[in-house]
Amino acid sequence: MSIKSNSDAVSYAKVINSKTAADTADRIEWVKVSLAFLPLATPVSDAKVLTGRQKPLTEVAIIFAEIRSRDGYEGIGFSYSKRAGGPGIYAHAKELADNLLGEDPNDIDKIYTKLLWAGASVGRSGMTVQAISPFDVALWDMKAKRAKLPLAKLLGAHRDSVQCYNTSGGFLHTPLDQVIKNVAISRESGIGGIKIKVGQPNTAEDIRRLTAVRKELGDDFPLMVDANQQWDRETAIRMGRKMEEFNLVWIEEPLDAYDIEGHAALTASLDTPIATGEMLTSYREHEQLILGNASDFVQPDAPRVGGITPFLQIMALAHKHGRKLAPHFAMEIHLHLAATYPQEPWLEHFEWLNPLFNEQLELKDGRMWVSDRLGLGFTLSEQALAWTVDKCEFGKKP
Ligand SMILES: [Mg+2]
Repeated sequence: MSIKSNSDAVSYAKVINSKTAADTADRIEWVKVSLAFLPLATPVSDAKVLTGRQKPLTEVAIIFAEIRSRDGYEGIGFSYSKRAGGPGIYAHAKELADNLLGEDPNDIDKIYTKLLWAGASVGRSGMTVQAISPFDVALWDMKAKRAKLPLAKLLGAHRDSVQCYNTSGGFLHTPLDQVIKNVAISRESGIGGIKIKVGQPNTAEDIRRLTAVRKELGDDFPLMVDANQQWDRETAIRMGRKMEEFNLVWIEEPLDAYDIEGHAALTASLDTPIATGEMLTSYREHEQLILGNASDFVQPDAPRVGGITPFLQIMALAHKHGRKLAPHFAMEIHLHLAATYPQEPWLEHFEWLNPLFNEQLELKDGRMWVSDRLGLGFTLSEQALAWTVDKCEFGKKP
């Protein structure tokens, strides 16, 4: 626009003096953090229990964050811990919560950085960032609701549904005949793949169960195994070679989660793809895994790595290096994130968290479908409140 006279200059000044983004920014006015324990119907065992490293899992600790803004928007997020750690995450989240008050909830990365530095003395991975996860997830939920979009659409989806496999029916505490029944139930419900646990001290027993499940499913139905880090390098290569004939989608966590060299050697040696990454607790740890060529599939977990913000960074790096994606657990969050990954990913189906929410995801034709509900698309159920053992509020509820 050219300015030809004094009066033109005045009207131009009026245009550029309209309100700025700072003038209309929303503000966080209220934050609630709560701790709930979700009981499991049956104690659950994977290979870590059979090798004596862990006790059977009887409950999952859930750390919720609820955030409200001055303009009336709300976000809900959660983190979790299996076995120990939940109360510690909750305690640190309470320490961090008042850092959110007064911030513009749209400035998620700025808030993330603030929370990260608030707890930097105790590190930038593990429980420190897992205490940030509920807030970060809630802020993304709120941002999508503000935009009147499902989160997958806010981020930009490559697909409306994600192929989905079940894990919960194939744990090691479950007798083989019941595993076979669970497989049939899962298929009838529309599941797209089945994963069973392996990694027992008796490797012949792993092969026996795998043989029976493959026979039940037929040669081509997608099937994965998960050793939960319990093999040494020698056992992993030997079992990996034996399992080549089973046409597996992947072998998961064959080795210790931090054995990048071992995973890289295995990935290079076997035709069957290797999957790992669920135990890693930061972007930096995933960066080492990806740059170390340690797996074919990366399996980040948004609550575990510190929320959606670092998860997006992990996805970008994984895609750049040609990895496939199979997020771990928390399908309520990961469905939206996996829907945005350029390469076809796999979503892990666990029904464990269903009672926490009033809404359920739709499984059809082997895939989990993104609903048209806004944000993550969930509200907390009465049951979630009933399982809540402690809560803490910050600021004034708008
Ligand atoms: Mg696993």
